[in-house]
Amino acid sequence: MNKISKVLIANRGEIALRIIRACKELEITSVAIFSEVDVEGIWVRKADECYPILGDVLQAYLNYETIISVAKKAKCDAIHPGYGFLSENADFAKACEEAGIIFIGPKPEHIALFGDKMASKVAMKKVGVPVLEGTNEPIEDKKEAKTIASKIGYPVIIKAAFGGGGRGMRIVRAENEFDKMFEAATNEAVKFFGNGQVFIEKYVENPRHIEVQIIADKYGNVVHLGERDCSIQRRHQKVIEIAPSPKLNNEVRKELFRISTKAMFKLGYESVGTVEFLIDQNDNIYFIEMNTRVQVEHPVTEIISGIDIIQRMIEIADGDKMKYMQEEIKFRGYAIEFRINAENPQKNFMPSTGTIERYLTPNGPGVRLDSSAYTGYKVPANYDSMIGKLIVWALDWGGAVKKAKRALDEFTLEGFPTNIQLHREIVRDEEFKKGKITTNYLDKNMDKFT
Ligand code: ADP
Repeated sequence: MNKISKVLIANRGEIALRIIRACKELEITSVAIFSEVDVEGIWVRKADECYPILGDVLQAYLNYETIISVAKKAKCDAIHPGYGFLSENADFAKACEEAGIIFIGPKPEHIALFGDKMASKVAMKKVGVPVLEGTNEPIEDKKEAKTIASKIGYPVIIKAAFGGGGRGMRIVRAENEFDKMFEAATNEAVKFFGNGQVFIEKYVENPRHIEVQIIADKYGNVVHLGERDCSIQRRHQKVIEIAPSPKLNNEVRKELFRISTKAMFKLGYESVGTVEFLIDQNDNIYFIEMNTRVQVEHPVTEIISGIDIIQRMIEIADGDKMKYMQEEIKFRGYAIEFRINAENPQKNFMPSTGTIERYLTPNGPGVRLDSSAYTGYKVPANYDSMIGKLIVWALDWGGAVKKAKRALDEFTLEGFPTNIQLHREIVRDEEFKKGKITTNYLDKNMDKFT
């Protein structure tokens, strides 16, 4: 007996629209919320019902008491948090539960556990997942921290324990840089996450970022939906994501699947989630963090597996059993996702704002566009600069690269600067075409592009 018939989407932009689409296909009523600057948001028009959240425009998607009261007023039985905002807030998940509303996501204790990167590493190590050498407890004393760093051996990375989005991270290559970097990481951690706790771990030179998509139901069934290669990053933030990884050793791949599913089973994880790893030049595997939400890059996995991750996430929250067991899940071809950001290549890719004057989107076979943009859309300066994602698919890697070129060339977006040209140049780059990219690729080649 299913309970979910009406879902409030506690988010905005392309992901709000994506969740509305999933709801429509599941024949569930969707309810949008919007801030004062998002009145014209496309998700507001596409949802079955919509409610304004007045006042501070950022708080509109963060103030969970208000959001829960709107959900109650609208008689919603569940809330989908999307990504960012409240998606990894254990208190919000708990507050939903207490209000008798289903939180579409993992259990609060798992959100809390994996929100803390240090605690996650300890927990994952216990269930057989390899982690990087580093500190297990927050270190406030700089001197003590420095002693630990030299014990680990330079280079090390200082990371915000509760960080995300590539922020609050500093690489330290030599002891004489340590103090400066420690302070910088701590200050950034306070500024962005309201918590200055940092930890230290070994820095891996030129790794690949490979992550495994997990789905787990309430009955102990855990499956993986393959891996994504997210090594194309700028300043530790993903720019392009690929599924499957074009040049990953099959033994490594199998091992990643084995340890990820086993760990999630042992920890009793529920819902969708992503286990993130770094793979070094010698194919050693290291867990770095777990994301307890649906990720920006989930479409590449949906395309190669044919499985709608958001729909399954809603069904699992509703108590359904896993719909597709591991043997039934097959992967086909290659998918590449390009994050389309309102940012200015002339100004070091700083976020840009403006109104879309001309908008002609790529289309045709093997092209998917997840976006909340349209002609006349005004990008507010208050939120993330990502305005959509272009995803392409082809049966083989070479075909996917060619498809990407064609689709990116078809893309016209005028009114403010974007990173579309950067993507066009990347897909023409010989190193990219070879497919074995490491996380320093983009920062190293930035001068070559645009
Ligand atoms: P965030 O939560 O901010 O995304 P992550 O811990 O997931 O931070 O790391 C983001 C990126 O930073 C990784 O994909 C990788 O490029 C880099 N990184 C993180 N930890 C290390 C490390 N120990 N060695 C090398 N690179 C790292």
